[in-house]
Amino acid sequence: MNEIILCKYGEIILKGANRPHFEALLSRELKRRAARHGGFSVRVSQSTVSLEPQSEASDLDGMFESVLTVFGINAAVRATVCEKTPEAILAAAREYLPEQLAGCRTFGVEAKRSDKAFPWKSPEIAARVGGVILEALPRLKVDLEKPDVMIRVEIRDRYACLHGPQKKAAGGIPIGSSGRGVLLLSGGIDSPVAGYMMAKRGMQILPLHFDSFPYTSERAREKVMRLARLISPYTCTRRAAVLSLTEIQEAIRDTCDEDYFTLLLRRFMMHLAERYARENDAGALITGESLGQVASQTTPALAATGGIVSLPVFRPCIGLDKEEIVSLSRRIGTFDTSIEPYEDCCTVFTPRHPKTRPELAKLLAEEGKLDFPALADRAYATLQTVSLF
Ligand code: ATP
Ligand code: MG
Repeated sequence: MNEIILCKYGEIILKGANRPHFEALLSRELKRRAARHGGFSVRVSQSTVSLEPQSEASDLDGMFESVLTVFGINAAVRATVCEKTPEAILAAAREYLPEQLAGCRTFGVEAKRSDKAFPWKSPEIAARVGGVILEALPRLKVDLEKPDVMIRVEIRDRYACLHGPQKKAAGGIPIGSSGRGVLLLSGGIDSPVAGYMMAKRGMQILPLHFDSFPYTSERAREKVMRLARLISPYTCTRRAAVLSLTEIQEAIRDTCDEDYFTLLLRRFMMHLAERYARENDAGALITGESLGQVASQTTPALAATGGIVSLPVFRPCIGLDKEEIVSLSRRIGTFDTSIEPYEDCCTVFTPRHPKTRPELAKLLAEEGKLDFPALADRAYATLQTVSLF
């Protein structure tokens, strides 16, 4: 049987003159995945991408799973294709649909005739296909309001196809359509979710992790790399960067007022991330901060840490409750790894009374006690890139 995958666009439909650009990015990503799953032809037409297996080696199950994580696609479905003739459609219905309807009691059929030259109108197509199903499976009942399974018949430009219910896909807009962003990736729950959310809006994600060896362990760092790998089906990220904050943290500990430790450290992080962004042609920084979650995430604290950079800082979790972030992290599959108990550089030398309302003058005075440029330069020199696969 001739089975293909149909992918329905999301927001790309709303793009005017730029639409070909978005379509090209989407096709490029689908082709990359098709190559990994044994080869599929990728064809865009009528706001749908069809993926047709090219050989026996084409892995339809694997490709279908993969398609569900491609941003730019709202829904996907496996369908059988046939010639655009009444006979071929009824034959395909007889052969393909009984399996799609296994285990259900009621069904409906909807038809959509994009090609008006087809001899039957939509209601007639639906009725005829319904008739074939009832012949093959007489125990079924028709219910057009709330069927267990709704079958769709589409008469498209080059072929006809039949399929069961679509599966909801990732939504969003294609990766690369919003440029690049550096994701400050910790081992926590929030930052992997933040990376996922910005990738959904078309950003190519460059993860950057700060460690603080020997205060943080090799295993803590390895956990963060696993998180980067776990979001990669969505973000398509293939490498991550790691930078050491050990010397900076020791300098802050030895020199500055304890109440300001976290904010001082976070300003270094933002500065180093911006440097990495500029060197890698990225136009934004991304963090997992959520308003009011901890002392360093109050409005004045965020102003103080964001104030050191001039690139925009995207904080997609800013208005989400922890519970909402957790539910997203479960959905994208990072939660169980995020809660593994490893130390993070932010939890080394934590102040007993962190400032929720930092005084900027005091913060800058504390920072002034350090040789910021030299410390930042030496930290930046520790940058390593890690291949995730
Ligand atoms: P989670 O750890 O993902 O996000 P959190 O509530 O633990 O969230 P903080 O530790 O205060 O938050 O950190 C806030 C944000 O700063 C993180 O979401 C992340 O973007 C960034 N961050 C914190 N620690 C690191 C780190 N070690 N490396 C890179 N980025 C970090
Ligand atoms: Mg954290």
